[in-house]
Amino acid sequence: MHIGVLALQGDVREHLEALTRCGVQATPVKHAEEIERVDGLVIPGGESTTISKLAVAFGLDGLIRQRIKAGLPVYGSCAGMIMVASNIKDPASNQESFGGIDMVVRRNAFGRQVDSFESDLEFKGIEGSIRAVFIRAPWVESLGPSVEILASVEVDGETHPVAVRSERVLATSFHPELTGDDRVHRYFIDEICGR
Ligand code: GLN
Repeated sequence: MHIGVLALQGDVREHLEALTRCGVQATPVKHAEEIERVDGLVIPGGESTTISKLAVAFGLDGLIRQRIKAGLPVYGSCAGMIMVASNIKDPASNQESFGGIDMVVRRNAFGRQVDSFESDLEFKGIEGSIRAVFIRAPWVESLGPSVEILASVEVDGETHPVAVRSERVLATSFHPELTGDDRVHRYFIDEICGR
């Protein structure tokens, strides 16, 4: 199984290392021919406005959109979650997502005070709690009926989804690639890519 990590911007190397530890072939991808060949795609954390602009500049946005529609397994983490959302609540100008999950995400949702934080979460389908690292993270503001919530956090008495799945697309607000715990990557490979 060959998983590509979209290598336009962001923490590509950490995802490649996590995927490799899980026993799949993992390579950075940034050319159309490479994206056409992969069995699954990870969109890393970073800055979604930059990823979005570079995808357009390199002429990859249409291809990625089309491959997601055709059922390519995709995992977006943090900025990657924003890229797989059908709608971005507060997009930067010219920022367009690839789509894949029927949801509205809010960028930088946790606000300044809790800009970056860590939390232990329950994650549906994974045993034991997951240490989740949030860095200027988005949350899911609203979602369609096809979307399953896998993990949430509570802020000021309100619950916000931070991990969701819709068929073959997975998204997390947090960065499992930074913790050395590969269970979310394994979940993606086994449950979504169907290893
Ligand atoms: N705030 C960033 C964005 O809007 C995401 C941050 C991250 O990926 N750690 O894209």
